[in-house]
Amino acid sequence: ETIGENFERTVAAHGDREALVEFATGRRWTYTELNADVDALARALMAVGVAKGDRVGIWAPNCAEWTITQYATAKIGAVLVNINPAYRTHELAFALEQSGVTLLISASTFKTSDYGAMIDEVRAGTAVRTVVYLDTDDWPQLLDCATGAEDLAGRLASLSPHDPINIQYTSGTTGFPKGATLSHRNILNNGFFVTETIGFTPEDRLAIPVPFYHCFGMVMANLGCTTHGATMVIPGPAFDAATTLKSIQDERCTAVYGVPTMFIGMQALPAFAEYDLSSLRTGIMAGAPCPVEVMKRCVTEMHLAEVSIAYGMTETSPVSCQTLVDDDLDRRTATIGRVHPHVEIKIVDPETGETVDRGRPGEFCTRGYSVMIGYWQDPERTADVLDADGWMHTGDLAVMREDGYALIVGRIKDMVIRGGENVYPREIEEFLYTHPDIEDVQVVGVPDERFGEELCACIKVRAGAAPLDAAAIRAFATGKLAHYKIPRYVRLVEQFPTTVTGKIRKIEMRAESAKALG
Ligand code: ATP
Ligand code: MG
Repeated sequence: ETIGENFERTVAAHGDREALVEFATGRRWTYTELNADVDALARALMAVGVAKGDRVGIWAPNCAEWTITQYATAKIGAVLVNINPAYRTHELAFALEQSGVTLLISASTFKTSDYGAMIDEVRAGTAVRTVVYLDTDDWPQLLDCATGAEDLAGRLASLSPHDPINIQYTSGTTGFPKGATLSHRNILNNGFFVTETIGFTPEDRLAIPVPFYHCFGMVMANLGCTTHGATMVIPGPAFDAATTLKSIQDERCTAVYGVPTMFIGMQALPAFAEYDLSSLRTGIMAGAPCPVEVMKRCVTEMHLAEVSIAYGMTETSPVSCQTLVDDDLDRRTATIGRVHPHVEIKIVDPETGETVDRGRPGEFCTRGYSVMIGYWQDPERTADVLDADGWMHTGDLAVMREDGYALIVGRIKDMVIRGGENVYPREIEEFLYTHPDIEDVQVVGVPDERFGEELCACIKVRAGAAPLDAAAIRAFATGKLAHYKIPRYVRLVEQFPTTVTGKIRKIEMRAESAKALG
């Protein structure tokens, strides 16, 4: 089954149910209405010459048209290229050129800021022939191109579940973003199993504050809803804690998604307790580990008794591990859950490739329907991560527990080898977080003649706290951490280098630290 066929099956079964709500504007669609808008756009795209396999880019914040574009391109077999709204000219040019986008959909709010100018600036060097701004005359003009003569049903029937349908760029945490190319089969199944795991039915109503350009929004939220006939509620164009809570309350949402930072933001609002969140039941937190206190408040103060933790990466559609709705606090905070239906996982020694024993750290590898086709037009980097047996080597270090639940201990690229001893920065960071004067900390390895690498802690101290030095950290850690895990160097920093998605770029921190320490 392709995404378009699956969507039409849901429309046939649940046509009168609410499919989509744009909370900020009050616009609403039933499944029948949404399908009519999807078909209108699909026909228009066919009329302006978008062929199967052509790349259609979308550079817009969350809005109903994003979702409509997602399903329209899927129905005609065009490859949707998601472009992060935080990108600037350098990244935009890269994504457009690398993927060969010919038609680009952007947002009018972009045009009135300098986004239109950015598109004009980079456009000459790309294959982009047409730019369509949403909420301007461009949009109705595009829709008017449809003549009714387009054979949409014929096109839909000609598609295969194995066709590429989507290019998603990775976050760029460990280097330049890579264009993970995904098929109908990849993302349709993953979206289905993600919400199947949390028991979605057509009664569920999901608040979606996570971005559509990322698989969290487009796959786990949108495909998670439409495969189950559930309702997608878009609180606003970008995450806002108050609007998200208000949309949950007013729309009686049963579920909400977010990265841990978003839940922290909602719980920190002074008016948090005033929102009626009693309709909530479940949700998904992913992308980073969830602090215990945050999880406790989710369960006790947000009615999220069935909230689930998911782990994944763009290259694997994304999810390969998830906790179950009745898992306890330990499993929901210490682990990433258990293996997802119909995928395989193994944890291997990165050097020998041998599977390691339970309880021992190794590289997390996964295989199955969820693994991407490859990086777009980049066979070399694809071969770096996908082996001949179909295993995706994630670059994440994980441990498999006796109970079948896995946990992430860090990224291979971040691992420090000091005097032959493997050190996982995350473990040391978590320990240093317990220091009352430390607001944030990142631990990296720096070159050392004697030990190969030495540990350096880059510390952001709390406002008003006295500066910390290596001796103070040594005193704090001695007796609590093994001697080889105590950072030899301490650097005080104002902020950390981040990616456009807000993840910290350790690679850059390492280079900065090596330079600063001479
Ligand atoms: P790049 O591959 O370009 O360096 P990235 O890996 O950060 O960037 P994404 O695909 O958006 O890009 O993120 C996937 C990564 O996020 C995973 O490989 C893992 O390191 C981390 N991650 C995802 N979910 C979790 C989780 N629940 N707990 C801990 N880490 C997670
Ligand atoms: Mg990655």
